[in-house]
Amino acid sequence: MKLTIVGCSPAWPNPGRAHSGYLLEHDSRRLLVDCGPGVLARLREAAHWPEIDAIAITHMHLDHCGDLVAWLWGHLHVPPRGTKGPDLWLPPGGRTELALLGSRFDEVFTIREYPAAEQFEAGGLTVTPFAVSHYTQPTWGLRIEAGGKVVAFSADTGPTEALAELAAEADVFLCEATLDQGEPGLRGHLTAGEAAAAALAARAHRLLLVHRPVELETPDGLELAYDGLELKL
Ligand SMILES: [Zn+2]
Repeated sequence: MKLTIVGCSPAWPNPGRAHSGYLLEHDSRRLLVDCGPGVLARLREAAHWPEIDAIAITHMHLDHCGDLVAWLWGHLHVPPRGTKGPDLWLPPGGRTELALLGSRFDEVFTIREYPAAEQFEAGGLTVTPFAVSHYTQPTWGLRIEAGGKVVAFSADTGPTEALAELAAEADVFLCEATLDQGEPGLRGHLTAGEAAAAALAARAHRLLLVHRPVELETPDGLELAYDGLELKL
């Protein structure tokens, strides 16, 4: 399996960087996890129009799905007419939220909502969603398996026991670390220290911090993801 960090900005973009987008490739099949603003432009640096088998969205916040709008309009104009668009896997209830962004998505994408906490196949890779804790927004961390390797992605979340199972023994754990300090009340994000603790509890083999503002320092000993990073697992 090959993992490419297409973009990993937090809810506002780091300078010159894209929002959430992670490309997973196995056996000539390609799954894009999240499609935030800037992701499509980055994919177009590598291919005139991206050939992606499936897109899976963790939650319907704009920094994780906003480029679906650009993808819709681009697909209607750029690739040859009749080119099949990607399968689009939305979180449970995601269809209703997608409809708020536009009305023509079904012309390009084959849209399905993935079943809560049930494994599904997307673009030839096996995906298991885990409900995480992102304020009041329904949000799913995704565990992706192919070729005997595992990439786990926390999505946006505060501390939750779900991360231990989501990232158990993962070869790579992409874990969000939006915060400098914990937040009062309902949690929706993690500090770098909390991400490290979650990776330790899950016995993940490698932790990469994502969704981290450039304004924050990264503690020594922790690894920060960056746009363009490619890993062969
Ligand atoms: Zn986010």
